[in-house]
Amino acid sequence: MTLAPRWLAAEMAALGAAHRRDRMPHALLIHEAPGAGGEWLATWAAQLVLCEKSAAAPCGACTACRRVQALQHPDLTWVRPLEDSRQIRIEQVRDLSAELALTSHGGGYKVGVITPADALNRFAANALLKTLEEPPARTLLVLVATQPSRLPPTVVSRCQRLRVRAPARSEATAWLTSTRGKADWDAALDALGEAPMLAAEADPAELAAVGADTRGTLEALAAGRTDPVAAAERWARSELPLRLLCFEKWLTERIRGDERQGGFLTEMRAAPYLSAGRPFLNIRELFGLMDEVRDLRATLDAPLNRGLALEALFRRLAPAGRTRSGEHG
Ligand SMILES: [Zn+2]
Repeated sequence: MTLAPRWLAAEMAALGAAHRRDRMPHALLIHEAPGAGGEWLATWAAQLVLCEKSAAAPCGACTACRRVQALQHPDLTWVRPLEDSRQIRIEQVRDLSAELALTSHGGGYKVGVITPADALNRFAANALLKTLEEPPARTLLVLVATQPSRLPPTVVSRCQRLRVRAPARSEATAWLTSTRGKADWDAALDALGEAPMLAAEADPAELAAVGADTRGTLEALAAGRTDPVAAAERWARSELPLRLLCFEKWLTERIRGDERQGGFLTEMRAAPYLSAGRPFLNIRELFGLMDEVRDLRATLDAPLNRGLALEALFRRLAPAGRTRSGEHG
């Protein structure tokens, strides 16, 4: 197991204590900030209940712990969207429920992890409800989600919730350096936001490059210096999920900047664009864009034209798009 992220210490302590008192919940919903370690914590929780050294669980070294880490433990079922899909389908949930109903190989727990749980489609979520309502004894079901609001409330209410917040920058870079070695992790996280688990899977130099390119495009769009159609086509062709995360990070920075300047109190209609550093969109528009970027990221597999969806977002950023209705320039 990789080094424990320091920012998860409180959650790990709470789960460990619950397990020692035999008060482990049947279902956990890990609500994570993107890339903050939800799956890491789910793996750790699976090791906690499956470890062979119950007094020191999870030891991280026994056969069970190593099999969990490799996702090859016979009592662990890991459910994620199948290849080519960003949805988790009802057949997958039925298979999971059937597996959880079987006797465990090791005579102890059966564990199911669903990640990202916000990818459960409606039918799959409904099918899961049955298992959540009547969980077999010694079952641990872990749902990992960045947007639990996409899950039916009936599912959410049957899970104990754990919140995994984004780590401080220093915690994130320390963990990345210890697990992946020295690199310019600061630049990588500047692009991505405080998402060390995502950064750990990527090449930090490439991440920084895509981040810089993405920012460049957004600044150019906001200044009316680039064509939204061409930019949308370029994004749709390369690194779109990563670019959308960078887009969110960029919007977050603008929202924070606007809050600092008292943007909440400013008028709600679109402010005319000023090139000299004034917020170019008001705070409501920034939040609106943020919602749409998240929606687009969550529905990347939907049969819609990504280029067109991006183009619509870009037009709202561009000064021409903002002034077209009723402004004179
Ligand atoms: Zn162990």
